Amino acid sequence: MFKKARVKLTVWYLLIIMLISSVFSLVIYSAITGELERGFRRTEMRLRTQELELPFFGQSPRLLEEINSQILADLEAAKKRVALFLLMVNAGILAVSSAAGYFLAGKTLKPIEVVMEEQKRFVADASHELRTPLTALKTVIEVALREKKMTVSESKKVLESSLEDVDGLESLVNNLLSLTQYQEGNGNFTYQDLDISELVKNAYKKIAPLAKKKNVKIKLKSGSQIVEANRLSLEQMLVIFLDNAVKYTSKGGQVTLLTKSDKKNLIVKIKDTGIGISKAEIPHIFDRFYRADQSRSKDNVPGFGLGLSLAIRIIDIHKGSVKVASVLGEGTSFTVKLPFKHS
Ligand code: ADP
Repeated sequence: MFKKARVKLTVWYLLIIMLISSVFSLVIYSAITGELERGFRRTEMRLRTQELELPFFGQSPRLLEEINSQILADLEAAKKRVALFLLMVNAGILAVSSAAGYFLAGKTLKPIEVVMEEQKRFVADASHELRTPLTALKTVIEVALREKKMTVSESKKVLESSLEDVDGLESLVNNLLSLTQYQEGNGNFTYQDLDISELVKNAYKKIAPLAKKKNVKIKLKSGSQIVEANRLSLEQMLVIFLDNAVKYTSKGGQVTLLTKSDKKNLIVKIKDTGIGISKAEIPHIFDRFYRADQSRSKDNVPGFGLGLSLAIRIIDIHKGSVKVASVLGEGTSFTVKLPFKHS
């Protein structure tokens, strides 16, 4: 598809270039031949005046005619040479602009090709991720429907587990929507001065029930500091890191969130005493739908592998950076640096 578009674009480039070049050549051709004709007429006039004055020409009128026809032949030959030269120049322009046009068309289309490929992969990945829980949900409902003697409490259990799956699907769809919003860069984000300690508290409130359920202690060490940021996305980022830290930490473990600063940046550090991430997997954890082996195998840890890819996009729109340090079986820490001023 892109090959065809590239050839089409090249043809359009060539048509425009050749149209300009042909018009230009025609103008040059008529200017040069006009000048040559005027020169020829001036020479002819001069010869005729000389014919009247010089006895040499007067005696030989045929010589004058011969000279005249010779000049006329030279004029025609000169015109042909000019036409040939212009034709060769145009052929050269055609050859050079074909190559340059093809190259430029490729360069122009490349970013579009990359975006389209990315979109295709995104749709394929998203459909795949949506299909798995949907199939599971469908199976549970079908099995329940086939069951003839189902008690009320059994039916309730099926409904509860289906509702859990639907909740999971809802969060997947919400994450996918957020991801497209950050991806296309079309979310009109507004930035305002925010107190990080307030956002940390809000994020904590959202994760506290899960931490309580898992018996994981969360320690907050965050003083009041003002950062220019987008409220919703920054809070979403804190929730993602806290949620992961709790999710991947076993019972009795501890999660610490601390904020500090250097000259220009706010630094947020989220540390846990969880399962850790292997060195080989660290470079991939920010990829969409990526889940490290140990979290996949632990099927009780819910997730779709979208949290960190959302977090990195949020960090990107805030022109920040993130570092990961982890030891398998000991714990992980994420250090996020966000400039105090967005602009
Ligand atoms: P998920 O929904 O699987 O949590 P994320 O994108 O948030 O997706 O994280 C990607 C993967 O990175 C996780 O599946 C997990 O393997 C790993 N990971 C993220 N945070 C932690 C953490 N604090 N401790 C251990 N592993 C983590």
